[in-house]
Amino acid sequence: MRILAVSLDLDDTLWPIEPAILAAERHLDDWLKRHHAAVAEAWPIAALRDLREQVSAERPDLSHDFTTQRLLTLERAFAACGIGNEHVDAAFEVYYAARNRVDCYPDALPALAALSARLPLVSISNGNADLERIGLRQHFRHSISARELGVAKPAAAIFHEACARLGVAPENVLHVGDDPLLDVIGAHAAGLHTAWLNRHAATWAERVAQYPAHADATPDLEIRDLGELARWIEDQGKTK
Ligand SMILES: [Mg+2]
Repeated sequence: MRILAVSLDLDDTLWPIEPAILAAERHLDDWLKRHHAAVAEAWPIAALRDLREQVSAERPDLSHDFTTQRLLTLERAFAACGIGNEHVDAAFEVYYAARNRVDCYPDALPALAALSARLPLVSISNGNADLERIGLRQHFRHSISARELGVAKPAAAIFHEACARLGVAPENVLHVGDDPLLDVIGAHAAGLHTAWLNRHAATWAERVAQYPAHADATPDLEIRDLGELARWIEDQGKTK
């Protein structure tokens, strides 16, 4: 294995996403209570969450685009209260600003600094994190999102786009992520090497059993945290 570049998933790889989403929902709810009390009353957090799921189910064409799903959700919530679209962008901004106030895992920042000093990094995410806002953009040569590309992981096209932007062949790229299907199975099928980030001491056999069609897929590398990845890349450099 000759690794010349690393592609990284974002949500649940560099930071846990659930606390950020829950906080974003609370911030939006507080803002609605202050500025649009009728909307807040009609759409408490759980109801707005259900509405978003409904939008997502009705619009499979937007499965790669969480931002547009959420904008449509807000449009519908306001419309149900007889209000037009004029406050949707402001409401989204409240949500989106909080969604990007993530707390990185303690190993993430040192690992990003070490990795980016050695190899070009690219982010590949199905989510709508903004690395610029989060303050991590400087570590990445490129940043690829499903929303921008119109296609999401595990499709090979998003991994191949990352390789093309890096100018590195898939077999020389290591993709790193937490999700067995989206990250490991997807990247492996696209011809990349893979590292499964297993922060919760799961077993690969258990996780991959959910995807019987890919039962023989195995990550090239299994790591507990990103420090382990940085050490592995460093050792690779020594044996070159
Ligand atoms: Mg992830």
